[in-house]
Amino acid sequence: MPRNLTIDSEITLNNGLNMPLFGLGTYQAHGREVEQAVRNALDEGYRLIDTAAMYGNEDEVGKAIRESGIARDDIFVTTKLWNSDHGYENTLKAFENSLSNLDIDYIDLFLIHWPVEGLRADTWRAFEELYAGERLKAIGVSNYLIRHLKDLHDIAQVPPAVNQVEFSPFLYQKELLEYCRENDIWLEAYSPLTKGRKLDDPELASIAEKYDKSVAQILIRWSLQHDIITIPKSSHPERIQENARVFDFELSDEDMSTMDSMNEDFHTAWNPSSVS
Ligand code: NDP
Repeated sequence: MPRNLTIDSEITLNNGLNMPLFGLGTYQAHGREVEQAVRNALDEGYRLIDTAAMYGNEDEVGKAIRESGIARDDIFVTTKLWNSDHGYENTLKAFENSLSNLDIDYIDLFLIHWPVEGLRADTWRAFEELYAGERLKAIGVSNYLIRHLKDLHDIAQVPPAVNQVEFSPFLYQKELLEYCRENDIWLEAYSPLTKGRKLDDPELASIAEKYDKSVAQILIRWSLQHDIITIPKSSHPERIQENARVFDFELSDEDMSTMDSMNEDFHTAWNPSSVS
């Protein structure tokens, strides 16, 4: 039975920092659009905002956060190190850039966006150094498979707090989830709505109908009930609101199992399985 979830539900990372379980993604949203989306989401009660240097929107995300009137400590901001910025010195510089673009005093969570071969160990050394300072609260990775996490485990002084990966019933990475759980790493689901590509799935539609919810809402709820940090993206106010209305119902064990059995290794984004 899942615990009682609300939009304010938080989990505790392996370093003691609390992180909201639910938040807003911002990939492919730019300019006024993303600024407004972040503003709408914060008004709706979202408290986790996910951006990345690669999205080219840290400025606008930061502006919306600063101007929200919500205390900085009440918002959790994640950004990510882009692939061309790997390596010890480059990482230190890239962090300064992200912080300056966001124009906030600290970043809550900094992630390695992708497990770049040959450089990621040096990058992690810089992450640990940044983490030792005052301007970064937690460090983690993204798109890491079990073998990448094991490599990191061998060299890390500070273990990753989070692994952000693509995760949906159509890409149900059960072994990775179990590995992360056993190793005290929180899994965070990106593209939880399959970028919209499976929203017309008939089996999901019939489950959604039972709860009088949309397919998007049951996808988000499925992820949350697995205790996975979940960051659907939308730039539309009505969808930002819809995606947050997932705390007034609960999927039955039977429907959870049905959704668990829908895996087809369906990637909508990049697939790290070729990275050694
Ligand atoms: P999502 O699965 O969140 O889907 C977003 C798409 O679904 C958008 O096209 C959006 O359109 C649409 N949508 C949102 N809500 C609804 C709804 N209720 N009904 C119908 N359509 C809807 O995909 P993302 O790839 O954006 O993943 C979420 C976030 O995860 C990203 O934004 C980013 O922050 C992060 N991410 C991280 C990656 C990584 O490598 N670490 C890779 C990919 C994503 P619209 O905006 O027009 O409403």
